[in-house]
Amino acid sequence: MSLPPSYMDSMDVRVYLAEDAMVEVHGSRHFDSLTEVRRYVRELVAQPWFLRLWPQKMVFQVRDGRGRNYASCESADGVHFTLRFPKQRRERFYILHEVAHACSWNTSNHDHDVIFRKAVKALVQRQMGRGAVETLVTGWKKAGLAA
Ligand SMILES: [Zn+2]
Repeated sequence: MSLPPSYMDSMDVRVYLAEDAMVEVHGSRHFDSLTEVRRYVRELVAQPWFLRLWPQKMVFQVRDGRGRNYASCESADGVHFTLRFPKQRRERFYILHEVAHACSWNTSNHDHDVIFRKAVKALVQRQMGRGAVETLVTGWKKAGLAA
């Protein structure tokens, strides 16, 4: 089934709003440099639980997101991912959000669909704790999104 673009846009907005609300409540560790972001990503994707959940090959490059308002995840082949983080988005949650795009790159139908959100949930639970996951899921449900 193909959904109209307006539905997809509003899903993105609802996902972002619920995420921002969660970050406001639970906070999100800020990283001062790209070097720290790179180290965090490198250590995250080497965790045994991460490799169990997402055994597919993923190669990450972390770059500056200068001139952008948001972080992003890009890939041409579904294996090599470029994550970009402007200064204001060098926070643990937004890193997890972009890594979740890579984890669900080959399985999700839309950027922020339920498969993507499952990846976010798994990452947030491991890195930010159960309380953060519960706030996030509550926010999604209030916005009419399955968790
Ligand atoms: Zn996203």
